[in-house]
Amino acid sequence: MNPNPPTEFGPADLQLDALLVGGGVAGLWLLNRLTSAGYRALLLERDALGAGQTLASQGMIHGGLKYALSGRLTPAATAIADMPARWAQCLAGAGEIDLRAVTVRARDYHLFAAAGTLGRLTTFFASRGLRGRLRRLRAPEFPDGLPTPHFRGTVYALADPVLDVPSLSAALAHPVAHLIYRSDADTLFDASSLSPDGARLRLGDQRIHARHLILTAGAGTAGLLATLGLGAPRMQRRPLHQVIVRAPGLPPLHAHCLTGIRRAEPRLTITSHPDHEGWLWYLGGQIATDGVRQTRAALIDTARRELTACFPWRSWQDARIDTLAIDRAEPMQLDGARPDEAFATATGPAGSCIVGWPVKLTLAPDLADRVLSLLPPPTRSSASAPPVALPLPRPAFGTVPWQSAAVLNTVARPTAAEPETR
Ligand SMILES: Cc1cc2nc3c(=O)[nH]c(=O)nc-3n(C[C@H](O)[C@H](O)[C@H](O)COP(=O)(O)OP(=O)(O)OC[C@H]3O[C@@H](n4cnc5c(N)ncnc54)[C@H](O)[C@@H]3O)c2cc1C
Repeated sequence: MNPNPPTEFGPADLQLDALLVGGGVAGLWLLNRLTSAGYRALLLERDALGAGQTLASQGMIHGGLKYALSGRLTPAATAIADMPARWAQCLAGAGEIDLRAVTVRARDYHLFAAAGTLGRLTTFFASRGLRGRLRRLRAPEFPDGLPTPHFRGTVYALADPVLDVPSLSAALAHPVAHLIYRSDADTLFDASSLSPDGARLRLGDQRIHARHLILTAGAGTAGLLATLGLGAPRMQRRPLHQVIVRAPGLPPLHAHCLTGIRRAEPRLTITSHPDHEGWLWYLGGQIATDGVRQTRAALIDTARRELTACFPWRSWQDARIDTLAIDRAEPMQLDGARPDEAFATATGPAGSCIVGWPVKLTLAPDLADRVLSLLPPPTRSSASAPPVALPLPRPAFGTVPWQSAAVLNTVARPTAAEPETR
């Protein structure tokens, strides 16, 4: 039975231009943009802000070089190339959203490879297409994680920053906190909630009519589309099995390891995050892509071997290593491949439901542009509308995965009988 019969709704109900579902980077960025543009919007988050992929991400604002390791500038590399400059403006307080409160973990990202192992990428990195984006460092400029004389090889710096994602979520939520509520949207809708003039729902005594329902719910979007009876767009999941490394005295390092690279993906993609004991390393890249086929115990073994191969001057035997299995949620691609760009589309009766996946944290600004281009201008009354107060709790901020109970259970050494995590 429809919990929100449309005939009960009238002009006295709360009228919104947009109701957003999902408080990850996509929803929070978009809510800021909509509000600044004069739209009357609210956001519902079922769990905690950033609780999905956002707080599990590595916080890298990519300029696309990672997608050019085949030795050519791919469509993905080109699509994302403008993003670091756009974020830099926001971080400086001169962009579309004021992100001056965000902690920047690193201004530059590094690429390194042991001597003689970079192959033809050496020529590509020196090519005209990459001029100005990549700077080869002299030994005295090497980061602390690649100390001379232990490390002998090549290091490049890339002007792609790494952000502290909890502080990013907080900076995005702060200006719009009064517009965010905690609720599982799956329980509010059914297949008759959408009509050509928007979405209707009831929260306690409050009846709401939103001209557009916007789904930025990450992996939760597939379920919401099913609840709403919408067959398109379809979602794909691309799994990762990330690695978390704690070891005494780990220096902060933000770098792709390209030592002996054989495919167009970094061997290790390292970011560093503060923990109660100091810095921990969070590893993505090939190890996390290939790791989806490994048990937790097998991946911990692999991580110890890979760290030894990439950082042979220090012992990794006493490192405490854990893993995190998590899916990326994206629009379905023909061959399950990585989409090149942010994705937004209008679906449902008269396009009253908009669905968006940023595909990368970096592309959240691009996703917001795409959603805004699908919306009509805000209704005239929105600017003068009184503040909204709904009978709902507010969501808390989520925690980073390495602080959650599941991954505090670290092991000092590989064990024979580890349970499989995925
Ligand atoms: C391990 C990993 C590392 C990554 N590293 C990077 C990186 O370094 N740089 C980069 O650019 N990108 C990175 N990404 C990609 C990036 O994290 C994602 O593209 C981005 O965070 C997606 O944001 P989102 O807001 O769409 O989804 P999410 O962050 O998943 O947010 C969706 C939100 O919707 C909520 N929700 C779901 N269902 C409902 C419902 N029914 N009702 C209400 N709320 C609901 C969820 O609770 C969640 O808070 C990484 C991804 C992963 C998995």
